Amino acid sequence: MSAGARGRMSAGARMIRLQRCAACGTAQYPPRAFCHHCLSDRIGWEEADALPGRVLARTSLHHTHEPRFRAHLPITLALVRFDAGPVAVCFLTGTAAPGDAVRVRRNEDDLLEAA
Ligand SMILES: [Zn+2]
Repeated sequence: MSAGARGRMSAGARMIRLQRCAACGTAQYPPRAFCHHCLSDRIGWEEADALPGRVLARTSLHHTHEPRFRAHLPITLALVRFDAGPVAVCFLTGTAAPGDAVRVRRNEDDLLEAA
């Protein structure tokens, strides 16, 4: 996607979407056809511009096979548990350590970013 096309996207286009089971209330990410807790297919969506969570672990990458990330090395990744329950791997900006509160957003490249 070109920078111009990204600039024309609405703010809603970068929302984080979590699934929430209508049968048991469990939130899940990434999306699945069935609830991972009760196997119901009554799955709804919730979306927000950012989700609160806590860092479970962090690590730094000094090598990548993905050409688009090479200019950004070293890259810091964090495993983040959203307050809603699901866990996701996010790019980490800033100095958050395990246990610290962060907010997760989708960045301009549509990747999860915690700060
Ligand atoms: Zn469920």
